[in-house]
Amino acid sequence: MPVLVMKFGGTSVANLDRIRRAAKRVGVEVAKGYDVIVIVSAMSGKTNELVGWVEETSPLFDAREYDAVVSSGENVTAGLMALTLQEMDVPARSWQGWQVPLKTTSAHSAARIVEIPTENISQKFAEGMRVAVVAGFQGISPEGRITTLGRGGSDTTAVAFAAAFGAERCDIYTDVDGVYTTDPRICDKARKLDKIAFEEMLELASLGAKVLQTRSVELAMRYGVKLRVLSSFEEQSDKAGTLVCAEEDIMESNVVNGVAYSRDEAKLTLLSVADRPGIAATIFTALSEAGVNVDMIVQNISEEGRTDMTFSCPTNEVARAEAALDRIKQDGHLNYAELVADTDVAKVSVVGIGMRSQSGVAAKMFKVLSDEGINIKVITTSEIKISVLIDRKYMELAVQSLHDAFELDKAA
Ligand code: ADP
Ligand code: ASP
Ligand code: MG
Repeated sequence: MPVLVMKFGGTSVANLDRIRRAAKRVGVEVAKGYDVIVIVSAMSGKTNELVGWVEETSPLFDAREYDAVVSSGENVTAGLMALTLQEMDVPARSWQGWQVPLKTTSAHSAARIVEIPTENISQKFAEGMRVAVVAGFQGISPEGRITTLGRGGSDTTAVAFAAAFGAERCDIYTDVDGVYTTDPRICDKARKLDKIAFEEMLELASLGAKVLQTRSVELAMRYGVKLRVLSSFEEQSDKAGTLVCAEEDIMESNVVNGVAYSRDEAKLTLLSVADRPGIAATIFTALSEAGVNVDMIVQNISEEGRTDMTFSCPTNEVARAEAALDRIKQDGHLNYAELVADTDVAKVSVVGIGMRSQSGVAAKMFKVLSDEGINIKVITTSEIKISVLIDRKYMELAVQSLHDAFELDKAA
């Protein structure tokens, strides 16, 4: 029988009533003749609560134990979803990551999926089970420890299962009815897209649009998974939501197709480091070994052999970054005058495949920000995106004015 993957995010399984509503949707697809693999998130708010408990217990926590704790939210919803389906007379069984086993790397809290053996679940389908409910976000390392795939990782579990089982489609049910030109929660002119190209979705996700985890889009692109984002609160229909698809399948497109933001950014500057070969390597090796995810990097023009080095990372990694840089200073590997942290910044980005062939987007973006009196602290660009770091208090204003200026409320 054809296989369908249906993933339900936190708000779609937030309580027993919502789980029942999600289960009914699954029942409809089973009745159409699909064997369904359901991927569930933890109930909304649960993972944040678990992360909070870990951080309160141990600020520079052991990542293996972090994973042991934060993966547990999904275990509850997987079992409850299987029970709910059974109550509806749909033959269903739950799986935790290690039972599949969903094999990952040992990069705790940011593990990558290595392999999903299909035998266990396929065998059960062959015996008459109709729904496999799998706990999203979690797997097992080569050392046999529980791992997690990074925040939002259930999306990646879903796409990886769709690829492994050759599913006809991977439906991501969430609390919005598709992918929008920007986050509809902060811009009421945001427009829902019927289709979005993999490349654009990949950029939007990696720049902060949390509607899909970046890695899930990467996998869908690589394995040609038919990926759809839709609401679990609206009427069920085969045409609903947004289809994430190949660029060739989209006829018309704006130059800029989306605006993304990332709220919890921090900017750190090392004042007066030596300007010579090896210094950047020393700094960023230490940061990487401390598990700091560095994003933007800027090095100033040097004066008298010394320069300033600025980089950005998530706010909750600032303490780790400071500790790592202090350590290499104490050890005599790096000399700097001061480390200045600005933890009140946000990143705002515009994204569009059309930028490959059209110039002037950066100039327009900077003009819009300057008209609003917003100062740009750091800029980075790639082929299809431009990002700036600005004061966090201007983030929403920046998103809304860019959305207006690039006329994203109008279709191409
Ligand atoms: P889930 O719990 O279902 O995984 P998430 O909270 O992870 O849901 O992702 C859905 C949220 O993503 C939406 O509620 C919305 O606020 C946010 N979002 C950010 N950017 C976008 C965008 N461009 N289109 C749609 N939603 C977006
Ligand atoms: N529950 C996890 C999180 O909140 C994984 C997910 O929902 O995708 O990040
Ligand atoms: Mg999510």
